[in-house]
Formats: sequence, C-alpha cells, structure tokens
Amino acid sequence: MNAQFPFDNTYSTLPSQFFHKQKPATVTKAELIACNFQLAKELEIKLPSSGLELIFSGQMIPDGADPLAQVYAGHQFGYYSPQLGDGRALLLGELNTKSGRYDIQLKGSGTTPYSRSGDGLSWLGPVLREYIVSEAMHHLGIPTTRSLAAVETGDKVLRETVLPGAILTRIAKSHIRVGTFQYFAYNKDTEALEALYKYTRERHYNETKSISEFLSCVINAQSDLVTDWLSVGFIHGVMNTDNCSISGETIDYGPCAFLDNYSPSKVFSSIDTHGRYAYSAQADVIVWNMAQLANALLPIVNNDEDVLNKFKNLVHEMPNQIRSLWLKKFGKKIGISKTKPSDYKLISNFLNGLASRNEDFTISFRKLTEEPEYLKSIDPDWFKTWKNRISGEPDPTSIMAKANPNLIPRNHQIELAITAALNSDFDLFHRLNKALKSPYEKTLEYSDLEAIPTEEEEVFKTFCGT
Ligand code: AMP
Ligand code: MG
Repeated sequence: MNAQFPFDNTYSTLPSQFFHKQKPATVTKAELIACNFQLAKELEIKLPSSGLELIFSGQMIPDGADPLAQVYAGHQFGYYSPQLGDGRALLLGELNTKSGRYDIQLKGSGTTPYSRSGDGLSWLGPVLREYIVSEAMHHLGIPTTRSLAAVETGDKVLRETVLPGAILTRIAKSHIRVGTFQYFAYNKDTEALEALYKYTRERHYNETKSISEFLSCVINAQSDLVTDWLSVGFIHGVMNTDNCSISGETIDYGPCAFLDNYSPSKVFSSIDTHGRYAYSAQADVIVWNMAQLANALLPIVNNDEDVLNKFKNLVHEMPNQIRSLWLKKFGKKIGISKTKPSDYKLISNFLNGLASRNEDFTISFRKLTEEPEYLKSIDPDWFKTWKNRISGEPDPTSIMAKANPNLIPRNHQIELAITAALNSDFDLFHRLNKALKSPYEKTLEYSDLEAIPTEEEEVFKTFCGT
C-alpha cells in the first residue's frame, strides 16, 4: 500500500513571494526512531507497513504533497531581522481532516533560500527534545504543535562536535507567525499583507468580521497560552516574534525547559543573557509581541481612527487579561474553583514560600493536592488562611488534581534520553513519551520520573540546537 495523506494545499496558492518551492535534501540512510501512530490516525493518514523512514526523511514524497519553504521575518531578542524563514524546514502540505486543517512539516530537511549561513540540518538532540516536549505539552492540555515522527538521517551534522543528523515531522494548525505579518509589513508589500490577513483570518478566525476582532482573537489565544505555560512551569526560551504562532499554539521548541525549583527569574537558554525570556517575563513579552503584530497590521488599517483605538485598547488591556487568566489557573492549582481578586495574595504567598525554601514547583503543587498537611508545620499561617479559603469548596482535591500534573518532561530526563540515544539506546526516549501521555496520573511504574534531578543530573543551560 502507498501512503495516503489527505492533502489539500492552500498556502501554495498565495502569491509567489510567500514561499519557495523545493524538495527535501537526499539523506544517506534514513532510520525510523518513532512514529506517532495514534496521531497519524487522528490526521486520517494511512501509512504503509514499511518504508516509513523514507517518507519521514523526505526521500519519498507522498502523493499530493507540494513541498515549500515559507518566508517570514521577526524580532529576535528585540531586534528586527528582516529575512528569516524556513531555513531548515519544509512544509510538505496541508492535511484537510474532520478535526481541521493541519500543516505537515519536515524539520531538518536541508537548506532553503532562507538558510542564511545555516546548514539546514538538525542533529538528534533537538529532534528528540521537541518530540518529547511537544507531545508532553499536548497531553498536559496545552495548545502546541505536535510530533508525528522522528528519523535519523545517517548523515553527520557539524556543531561543536560531529553529531548524528535527524528530522522531525511536525504538525501545526499552521506555521503562520507574527513574523510572517512583519515580513510583508516591513517590506511595504501591502497587497501581500492584505492577502495574508485574509488567508489567516479564514483559516484560524473564520468567525471574525473585522481586523480588530482578528487581533483580539490572537491576543486571547496567546494570553491563554502563556498563562498555560506559567501554570506548569514552562519556559519557552526564545519568544521571538518569529516563534509566536498566530493560531496560539506553542511552536519552536529550542532551548525550552520546565522549572524544577520555583524561581520566577529562571532562565535556562544559553543565548538569553539578559533574561528577556525568563519564566515570569513571558507574561510581559507576549504583550510586546502582540504590539508588534498590531503594528504589522497597521498598513492595512488605513488610518481608521476607530480601528486604531481598538488596537490600542486591546494591547493595553492585555496585561489585565493575563492577570485574570493567571489568577483563574493558579486558583485551580490551590483548589479554588472561582477566584476573587484577593486570592492573588494567597497564591503569591504560596509561590514566595516555594522560592524562599527553594522547593520544586511541580512536586509542591502536587503535595498540596495529595497531602497538604505537610505545610502545617512549614508555613502554618499560610496553611490556616488557605484552609479557611477553600472551606466552602465541595471538592478542592479534584480541582487541584486536574490542575497539578504529576509528571512533566524534566530537563535532566530529556538530557539523559539524548545522551543514551547518542549511544543508540532509545529506551528512555520511548519510556518518557509513554509516561508523559498521562501526566496527571500517579503510577508506581513511572514514579522515578517524578523526582527532581540529583546534583550531578541537574541541567543549568539549554541550547537552541540549531
Ligand atoms: P529559531 O531561533 O530556531 O526559531 O530559528 C531562527 C531562524 O534560523 C529560522 O529562520 C530558522 O529557520 C533558522 N535556522 C535555525 N537553524 C538553522 C539551520 N541549522 N540551518 C538553517 N537555518 C536555520
Ligand atoms: Mg523559529
């Protein structure tokens, strides 16, 4: 049987300055690491019983695919880069499924006109990292791109050392970024910007009737997303506007990491020297990114005062919006179904306690869920106030159990999985993927994965992995 993908490509019908059509590079010897068969089924893809490594390394292009690299720009660490784009990725096409339209993309498939000085390749580490973390995010219930497959290419990739090459097959609602809008706005290509706006609105926010409603939907989606991240201790690491998806999915897992001990100023990324994308800074940065989107839309607003005022209000209101989502989500983490503004202090005091005692974010919330009495001796005042506050809640434990995961993809486990994989041992990689499918469950089988790293295991820095 040949592979059958429900392709229905629309991005390729946009004007030619949106992309460059090309085929993936030839690889030496593709070998399948993982295929997410459950996801393939959800996407209505029919896969053959053999040859998956050829499909997911781009050596066999399925019928209906029309590979292309998308162009975009973006602010990287606050500075505008006028020309980015898929430098190491290719969109194979779009899948039109009952549950919606999805891009299918190969990441690490060779150079494109947008590669700048890069080699267009990925090494094994970032491919495994993105596979594990994006799938974990999905199972945590957080909007994200997903991973359909990972293959080794048999080629060597030169980084600080020589490393094995790999390709990730990524699924996204689309790969349209804030930076895609910026590219056309900064190039003063108003016609293309208008075409992009119409295309994106129809694809993601079909229900909207005006450009300010469109902006409002993106702002809502991003506010929701970032507060989701905060609620599980996730640090994206490179919230550049080119890594900020219009659909509101988490995209571009580079130096991302989850908090172990709670520290609001925590940064893992080796390139984030000033902490621009630190854990708690993410709530501010997303407002800045949305202001850049509003700015990029201006050329098609035609100085309409009413729209300009709406844009201004939307961006100015965003911090409040984020604050109330934060309150709602963190309220659930301490067992409150309907928060009041005064709960902000109660939640903050709990977090301050974690910071001052250097305690693990995930374990502490889980402990509060399962055996809250432990706090009685550690922080009796907080415990008393909290008990009082939740006394009217019929079932605080079940609220908390749904808001406080037991398992997160811990940095040290990911590093251990990558190190083992470099020695051809993929057991931990597969085990992590399996365990992280049910992050809110507590099982004996995976209890070792709940633990914080030992001193030797602790990860201090993460890398972009380009
Ligand atoms: P990132 O910070 O990983 O989102 O990447 C920023 C830009 O650099 C994007 O345009 C990528 O396509 C490009 N890029 C990253 N790594 C490579 C690579 N190895 N080869 C070519 N382009 C790359
Ligand atoms: Mg990127």
